[in-house]
Amino acid sequence: MDTYKKIIEDIYLDVKEIEDTGKVANYIPELSLVDPTNFGINITTVKNENFGIGNSDTKFSIQSICKTLSLTLAYKLEGEKLWDRVDVEPSGNPFNSLLQLEADCGKPRNPFINAGAIVVADVLISHLKNPMEDFLNFCRETSNIPDLNYSEKVAESEKNTGYRNVALCNFIKSFGNIKNEVDEVLDFYFHICSIKMTCKELSNTFMYLVKDNFKTQTGKEVLNASQTKRINAIMLTCGFYDESGEFAFRVGLAGKSGVGGGIIAIHPDEYCIAVWSPKLNKKGNSYKGMCFLEHFTTKTASSIF
Ligand code: GLN
Repeated sequence: MDTYKKIIEDIYLDVKEIEDTGKVANYIPELSLVDPTNFGINITTVKNENFGIGNSDTKFSIQSICKTLSLTLAYKLEGEKLWDRVDVEPSGNPFNSLLQLEADCGKPRNPFINAGAIVVADVLISHLKNPMEDFLNFCRETSNIPDLNYSEKVAESEKNTGYRNVALCNFIKSFGNIKNEVDEVLDFYFHICSIKMTCKELSNTFMYLVKDNFKTQTGKEVLNASQTKRINAIMLTCGFYDESGEFAFRVGLAGKSGVGGGIIAIHPDEYCIAVWSPKLNKKGNSYKGMCFLEHFTTKTASSIF
């Protein structure tokens, strides 16, 4: 941990000073209220060591990072049948694109673009008795944060302006790949995206994707080895939308971003690291978050490749 700690401190100071060419997401009005200078990092290792720096204990909107948790639960409940409803191919298109759905007859390319995460939300509704409550309980158990909650403000803000997601959900339903009511699916999807966590909470929570761990913070197995491999594979190939190749190329870890400016990245043998900086590059991924992780895996020589 000492090596990681020193390297994180050095890169933090360097990256903090670089000019940030990114922009805070404002298509969800509530997200634009964040202080753009926030910058936090937290790492959790297989030895259960933790180190954080900067705003690593400030809660922020994790947005699409939560798609990893909804996918995990849907995979547990639906098993391999899930892949009949959503594919596992990188889309090469923006996260909110409608483009490929027509040609693909309403089957989203992967579970991390919005189209795919909306289908995953629909799958969860079909399985869960009280979807909102049951999913939140799964997140609470996995993270070991008993008071983890949805942000009604963020969910409401997205509901008021989420025109593309409304279009996506209706379009997919027209192909028969949404089984429940569009309003219910979207409301659930917006709530999933509204969860707030800190970098420290994120890096602890996603340790279930690190080998030899596979467990929630309270010791329960989340996914088996094969399922864990698959989730990590989808994160590597699709976790950054049309910048997934770039992330693999520059960073070399499985990862997932969110438009709140957070990124989680997994080294399946060693650690989970979470970074937060709200300004996003043109592909909707944290500008400084990507820079930090690129330097981190370069200096520690600890990518998966
Ligand atoms: N809730 C956001 C949306 O649907 C999630 C997008 C993201 O984080 N990339 O637009």
